[in-house]
Amino acid sequence: MRLLRPRTKFSVWLFAGLTSLISVVVTAIAVPLTFDLLDDDAVFKSCLIAMLCAFPTALILFDGMRKNEELSAKLQKLVNRDRLTDVATRDYFFQRMEEAPDCFGVSLMIDIDHFKQVNDTYGHLFGDRVIHRVADVLRTAVRKEDIVCRFGGEEFVVFLEKYDAESGMRVAERIREQVESQVMEHEGIEVRVTVSIGGALKDGVSEIEKSIQDADEALYVAKSEGRNRTVFHNMRKAAK
Ligand code: GH3
Ligand code: MG
Ligand code: MG
Repeated sequence: MRLLRPRTKFSVWLFAGLTSLISVVVTAIAVPLTFDLLDDDAVFKSCLIAMLCAFPTALILFDGMRKNEELSAKLQKLVNRDRLTDVATRDYFFQRMEEAPDCFGVSLMIDIDHFKQVNDTYGHLFGDRVIHRVADVLRTAVRKEDIVCRFGGEEFVVFLEKYDAESGMRVAERIREQVESQVMEHEGIEVRVTVSIGGALKDGVSEIEKSIQDADEALYVAKSEGRNRTVFHNMRKAAK
């Protein structure tokens, strides 16, 4: 059925053309049979009427369907993608995780350090740019199949499917170092930020919420141990 949903103006015209062709063919067969008509001219005129009725009607209907498709794609994007960063929203993240409850991997909870100070010093709009930049780093640091989500204000969650703690730690460290190396400019002043990262495993039977909670606890440790570091749940060694 998805194939029957017109998404472009070209497909609207194509579908309308096909619909009128079908109605012409049906008329050409049905009219002589129903009315015992042998007169070619009458059949031709019936076909013409069928086409003149079917084509504009189909055009209006299919164009309406196309507009609905467009609108529902826009709505879907609003629900699924965070407006500021274009990464997944929290709702979409959980929806994706619910679709594969037995997946395993590593959850990373990433939080920008002393972000309130960034806002207070350089303003909220610059703060937004910082959040955007961190999201860009996250997006480029992970694979296509991994999920990056804006979990809250300046907090992100990344789920790295099929990763173990060691490879998850490597990705987390790469993210941390890449954020650290970003230089942003505000009115001629160079601004740098750092992130703290908490990591935790999710096995095939446990729920994602548990893994995120573990990652959050590890993040708390990373913050209390000085920030700009990665701590893995149940692994004492903090990387920096
Ligand atoms: P910590 O190192 O402990 O994480 O300290 P922090 O200052 O980063 O954390 P805190 O929770 O005190 O402050 C987070 C700030 O993030 C407060 C809030 O105003 C700001 N914030 C939340 N969402 C947004 C946003 O969308 N844009 C901007 N610019 N700021 C935001
Ligand atoms: Mg913070
Ligand atoms: Mg925070």
